[in-house]
Amino acid sequence: MKTIFSKIIDREIPADIVAENDQVIVFRDINPKTPIHVLIVPKKEIKDIQSFAPEDFVYAQAIFAMAQQLSQTIPGAEEFRLQINSGYRAGQRVFHVHAHFLAGAELAA
Ligand code: AMP
Repeated sequence: MKTIFSKIIDREIPADIVAENDQVIVFRDINPKTPIHVLIVPKKEIKDIQSFAPEDFVYAQAIFAMAQQLSQTIPGAEEFRLQINSGYRAGQRVFHVHAHFLAGAELAA
């Protein structure tokens, strides 16, 4: 069964997509926690960081590169928090690995 994020990648369900390249897609979180809250999602369906195969680490690089790009292109996102919940007890609820890109407010240290 496809994850909800794969359905967004395949344009089967709508999302507010803000960027995309061969490795990742970026769309606005439906329940934003900060003024700027987007999700950076690998186009490969990988459950969590624990499940990464050696060849999957290219997506870790792609997430960092996209975070840098977003910080340079989204006004107010020059400083940001990148958060990955990996596992149910860590708060993960969508089991298609993704990074939360949070910005636009002063975040608690
Ligand atoms: P996590 O708890 O780390 O797995 O984060 C899942 C995130 O996905 C939550 O912040 C949700 O608000 C967000 N989310 C769930 N469904 C959608 C959707 N259809 N479009 C955009 N964001 C979503």
